[in-house]
Amino acid sequence: MTRAEAISYLENEYAKKRESAEREWIERRERIFAGDPKIRELQDTLSNALSKAARLLVADPGNAAANAERLREETLAARGAIRSRLTKAGFDADALEIRYSCPLCKDTGYTGLVPRIMCACMEKQLNALVYAQDAFGSEERETFQSFREDIYPNEAQKKQALAIRDLCLQYADAYPNTGKNNLLILGTAGLGKTFLLNAIAERVARNGHVYLKMTAYRMHQSMRAHFLNLDDGKDGFEQMVKAPLLLIDDLGTEPMMKNITLEYLFILLNERGISGRHTVIASNLMPNDMLARYGERIVSRLLNQATTRAVCLTGEDLRLKGRL
Ligand SMILES: [Zn+2]
Repeated sequence: MTRAEAISYLENEYAKKRESAEREWIERRERIFAGDPKIRELQDTLSNALSKAARLLVADPGNAAANAERLREETLAARGAIRSRLTKAGFDADALEIRYSCPLCKDTGYTGLVPRIMCACMEKQLNALVYAQDAFGSEERETFQSFREDIYPNEAQKKQALAIRDLCLQYADAYPNTGKNNLLILGTAGLGKTFLLNAIAERVARNGHVYLKMTAYRMHQSMRAHFLNLDDGKDGFEQMVKAPLLLIDDLGTEPMMKNITLEYLFILLNERGISGRHTVIASNLMPNDMLARYGERIVSRLLNQATTRAVCLTGEDLRLKGRL
């Protein structure tokens, strides 16, 4: 199941949840009204208050203020009467309300209209889905728990790697309150950058947040698809821009394509920067290589000290030594 599939699965589940909450509400109302018909009358008074106000305003404009005040009092009185009748009949005072399992998003999974933001309740479930299959997907997980301290050829390299590991762990545990939003993990191949990136993702997921993780090559494919209008809207460029946490591995290995690579990377970094979203990038490129490849406009965003913490792994390739 991809992330997009997990989201559409959950949206479906939420629609069912919403329907059943509404069905339960209608049945409950009927039960209440059957037991005490006066409550239905009072409820009708409330439901009609707005249209009554509008009618009065047209029919009797001279007394608008007095009428509004009288209506307000009627409404208040009706509410009070409903509450006391409900409690007398053994119901809760709010028994005429719909009972959503999440009052925040009313079981829609989203809060706010524009922009639509995934509710924490859905984010948690999405994560559980993606995380659960991740956990079954690979035998050997790259996590902070499975980080090996005995693979370093010398003390200096070990000390540096452990310091950077701790920093990554702090970032993951503090997320989304990371201080600086972005983390840049630099270093030549074979020093464990991908491991750290995966460990951060695992940790963040374990803490109940969602992330989107991809290689720079996959990132490039999404950008290309968007440019060519082949984007199906799933796990595509829009998702990359909007993901609360985006992790990109191996930046610098993506193909350089005219009108695509630089343009889209700029949009991606700029939009994410403006919206204050978190981005973690691992790259073999040193700052000078980045400047040569991407130019000032992009590098100033990649290496912005106000928003980005950059760390650099150095030393001997751990893979050549069969250690990673
Ligand atoms: Zn919710």
